[in-house]
Amino acid sequence: QEMTRVNIIPSIKDAIDLLDTTFRKQQVKYIVKIEEEALWLRADIIQLTQIIFNLIINAIYFSPKNGLVTISTFQTDTDVILKISDEGPGIAREALEKIFQPFFTTKPIGEGSGLGLSVVHGIISSHKGTIIAKNNSVKGCTFTVTLPKQL
Ligand code: ADP
Ligand code: MG
Repeated sequence: QEMTRVNIIPSIKDAIDLLDTTFRKQQVKYIVKIEEEALWLRADIIQLTQIIFNLIINAIYFSPKNGLVTISTFQTDTDVILKISDEGPGIAREALEKIFQPFFTTKPIGEGSGLGLSVVHGIISSHKGTIIAKNNSVKGCTFTVTLPKQL
C-alpha cells in the first residue's frame, strides 16, 4: 500500500472510461455527477481505482437493460463521499449483512467469485473509511463510500 495525496476525480473518470464499452455492451446507461474541482485525499491510488471499478462493475451486472447507473461525489470538511447507485433488483434483507464477506455471491455457480466487495471493504477499512449498502426506495441499491481526507 502506497499512501499519497491524490485527487479522486481522475480515478473516477479513468474507471468509467475503462468500463464505457461494458456499459454499452450491456445496454446500461450512466450519469456522472462529480465535482469539477479536485477532491483530494490521502490514499493508495491503485486501490482507490479498484474500489470504484468493482462497485461500478457490480452496478452494471445487476442493472436491467436501459437501467441507469448514477456515479456521484460529495465532500464534507473531513471526508470524500462516493455514491454508486443502480436500478437493479436491490439486495435481499438477509443478504445485506453478508455481501462484504469473502465468497458471498448470489450469481450462478461459476459466474461470481464473491470476492469483489470483500476486497472493496478491506481497502476501505485500511483507509479508515466506511461503506454502506442500502436499497433505494423505488428500485435498485446505493453503495455509499466515505473516505477520510486525512488518515
Ligand atoms: P460477485 O460480484 O462475484 O457476486 P461481490 O463481492 O462483488 O461478488 O458481490 C457479492 C454479492 O453482493 C453479489 O453476488 C450480489 O448478491 C450483491 N451485490 C453486489 N452489488 C450489487 C448490486 N449493485 N445490486 C444488487 N446486488 C449486489
Ligand atoms: Mg462483483
